[in-house]
Amino acid sequence: MDSVKILGVPFSKMTLSDTVKVLQGKLAGERSQSRLFHLITANPEIVMAAKQQPELQQIVNAADLITPDGIGVVLAAKWQGVHIPERVTGFDLLIRLLEGASKRGFSLYVVGADEETNAKAAGIIADKYPGVTIVGRHNGYFKGDQEEALVADIERKQPDLLIVAFGAPNAEKWIYKHKSRLKAKVAFGVGGSLDVIAG
Ligand code: UDP
Repeated sequence: MDSVKILGVPFSKMTLSDTVKVLQGKLAGERSQSRLFHLITANPEIVMAAKQQPELQQIVNAADLITPDGIGVVLAAKWQGVHIPERVTGFDLLIRLLEGASKRGFSLYVVGADEETNAKAAGIIADKYPGVTIVGRHNGYFKGDQEEALVADIERKQPDLLIVAFGAPNAEKWIYKHKSRLKAKVAFGVGGSLDVIAG
C-alpha cells in the first residue's frame, strides 16, 4: 500500500473513504485464523513515543496499516514534500464503518471505557446501526482473571471487527499482546470514541 515514512513510521496516503473501503473489504473477506488485520491510527505522540520505546516501535512495525491521526502527521509529510490527503482518525473510521453496515452487516466486539460508558455506547450502536451485531462487550478496567476471560470470549466469538477504547498507545499494546488469540478480522484502537458515542 502506498505510504510515506515519517520518523521511521510508514503512514498510509489513503483518504478516509479509501481506508474505509479497504477495511470493508477485510470485514467482508475470509477470516484468517492465524492473524487479524491490525490498524493503527497514529498521532505524533505515538510516533515520538515509538522512538523511545522499542516495544512500541515493534508494535508499529508489525501493524498492517497505519493512518495519520493528527494534523501534525499531515504537516510533517508536507514538510517532506509528500502529500497526505487528510487525517484518518479511529473515530471517523468507526462511524463510517458503522454507517456502511446498513449495506453489508458485520459483527462487532466493543472493549474499553468504564462500564457505564461501554454499556451505553454498545446500546446506542445496536439501536442506531441495525446492520451491526454486537457479539460481546467489556469495559476497559480489568480485575483478577477478567482479562483472560475477555480474551477467551473474543477468541470464541470471532467478531468481524474488534474495537478497543483504552486510549493510545495502550489499545495498540493490548491488541498486539493478544493478537494470536483475538480471532477478529480487523482490530483497532478508537481512543475516547466510546465516551463520545455515549455522550
Ligand atoms: N480507558 C480504559 N482503561 C484504562 C484506561 C483508559 O478503558 O485502563 C478508557 C477511558 O475510560 C476512556 C478511553 O480509554 O474511555 C480514553 O482514555 P483517555 O482519554 O485517557 O485516552 P486518550 O484519549 O488521551 O488517548
